[in-house]
Amino acid sequence: MYPDLTGKTAVVTGASSGLGHGIAQRFLQQEGMNVVVNYHSEKHRGAAQELADACNANGRTMAVVVQADISQEEGAQKLLDAALDTFGTVDVWVNNAGIESRYPTHELPLEEWEKVLAVNLTGVFLGSKAALARFVDTGTKGVIVNLSSVHEKVPWPTFAHYTASKGGVKLFSETIALEYAHLGIRVNCIAPGAIETPINAAKFADPKALAQTVKLVPMGTIGTVEQIAAAAAWLASDQSGYVTGQSLFVDGGMSLYPSFERGDG
Ligand code: NAD
Repeated sequence: MYPDLTGKTAVVTGASSGLGHGIAQRFLQQEGMNVVVNYHSEKHRGAAQELADACNANGRTMAVVVQADISQEEGAQKLLDAALDTFGTVDVWVNNAGIESRYPTHELPLEEWEKVLAVNLTGVFLGSKAALARFVDTGTKGVIVNLSSVHEKVPWPTFAHYTASKGGVKLFSETIALEYAHLGIRVNCIAPGAIETPINAAKFADPKALAQTVKLVPMGTIGTVEQIAAAAAWLASDQSGYVTGQSLFVDGGMSLYPSFERGDG
């Protein structure tokens, strides 16, 4: 727990499942923060509402649940407005929402390329833009945390649109970190390896596919949502107060070229 986070307000995009849900839960239940819990599609409303209800049970509103499409500018504005209307401020913005799909690149439909880029890259831009505008206007030394991936660095055949979006998130984050550092605003990425969430649940349900992924992790296990949430809390807190423009790889060593593990090469 980081005492400086208590009472601060965060927006977490795509917070109805997986890593976003875990980050929102950590902020609410362990850090005592207020959180705008964003969900996108109606089928995900329940999980977001359940988390909010659990945290608002003692009569104080700590969580507000907001439907928004982060690939649209109105979506980002809606999340900012909800933070300001409910809590009066925003201090931390986590751009977590993301999607992936698999296609050989020569068969990748343009619409699919555009869809993935719209959520994973444009969504990070729009969320960051809304947060930065508020931070600049109010002189807030705010924090932005973007969920990239080991695939901001590691190529991933048949996921070219995903890797393009995550590589984009990395350099976008470094650029705005540099642009706003003089105002005390910090921007960092978390680059997860393989963490079991709905994004890969179908794949990991197949023991063979799971074993193949585990083979790519020098530490020999899939990561947990809690490990990513812990990284998000640290990056949001003053304990990382001199860290900006960095990608924190939380990946059990996946990005360390595991095929060289035994000194081959
Ligand atoms: P997930 O599918 O559980 O979560 C993604 C969330 O984004 C969902 O809640 C979904 O509703 C939301 N979302 C999708 N489109 C949206 C939109 N237009 N507007 C708002 N929200 C939208 O998957 P996850 O594993 O929790 O992924 C979270 C982030 O972490 C993603 O950016 C993903 O690329 C990244 N990541 C995950 C892993 C992993 O192994 N799980 C690894 C590397 C990176």
